[in-house]
Amino acid sequence: MEPMSKPARVRFAPSPTGHLHVGSIRSGLFNWLWARHTGGVFVLRIEDTDQARLVDGAIDQINDSLEALGITPDEGPRGGGAFGPYLQSERLDTYRHFATKLQDVGALYPCWCTPERLSELRIAAQIAGVAFKYDRFCLNPKNAKRLSDPHVLRFRIPEIPSIITWEDAVRGHMEFKIEELDDFVALKSDTFPTYHLANVIDDHLMEISHVLRADEWLPSTPKHLLLFEAFGWEKPMYAHLPPVQGPNGKKKLSKRDGAESVGEYIAAGYLPEALMSFLASFGWNDGTTQEVYSPTQLVKNFTLDRIQKSPAKFDKDRLTWMNGLLIRQMPLSELLERCRSFWPPTAAHH
Ligand code: GLU
Repeated sequence: MEPMSKPARVRFAPSPTGHLHVGSIRSGLFNWLWARHTGGVFVLRIEDTDQARLVDGAIDQINDSLEALGITPDEGPRGGGAFGPYLQSERLDTYRHFATKLQDVGALYPCWCTPERLSELRIAAQIAGVAFKYDRFCLNPKNAKRLSDPHVLRFRIPEIPSIITWEDAVRGHMEFKIEELDDFVALKSDTFPTYHLANVIDDHLMEISHVLRADEWLPSTPKHLLLFEAFGWEKPMYAHLPPVQGPNGKKKLSKRDGAESVGEYIAAGYLPEALMSFLASFGWNDGTTQEVYSPTQLVKNFTLDRIQKSPAKFDKDRLTWMNGLLIRQMPLSELLERCRSFWPPTAAHH
């Protein structure tokens, strides 16, 4: 066991760009467990700045799924809190304000390149077999246009240091070569921030101490660290969670593997506790042979040093087994109470 940790402030920051299946809620659960284990705070932040990809009803589904599992946010769009608003689309002025600050110190620069020019550069990079990197055409004063003309703001990747490193709570020592990083867009031409800019500003302003997120975000972390440095802000501790794969080790978990929504599972008779214990096993165990944990046991035993690096497998049969075990352990009176919501049966219950 780790020594008692100080209260963490953590966040689950989903983008409402689609159907949130049980696999993607795992990050939410791990953040909640870490908050509860340390006596800290669990924040729900909705990252909805990519307006073109928004899906109707997705925000409600995120809130409902968390509530159904009993991992209710301490701060978030439904309950509020001192660090709100918690929808990024309601924080646009904040991002613009901080983008201007970075622009003033030369960390962001305007770029007027057209999509056509950028796509030519991309094709050229592809033909040359190298990763695309913006060629800094607009950094040359000769190519500058008027600031009233449509443009984006790009982050100027510094030359020094040549390597960016961090100690990841799960992956250990991490290194990225600076020369592999592209001057990414921080503010789009519609003055909406990109994921990188908004994510870092909010993690700072919301005083996030630990970022527990899926390891598909690993390539973004060096960019985030550079943004923290450009602002002169203290960085959070990062913990990148292992991927959740389909039962036969397939790359991406899909609906056919049973990656339905929490609501669908609960309507089909799965207990929230069974789902929670199942989700916790995606990359975590407490080092014993115990397989099923109550929420209280999870909170007590959850530590970051027991999160694994290797991919986790989504095995619906295991969930069904856990569910059966918990149902059989349940006092009859409670079981009866739980069954009431399934009677009279509706089309959703089968
Ligand atoms: N909005 C990102 C997502 O959809 C958040 C990643 C992060 O936690 O930084 O998962």
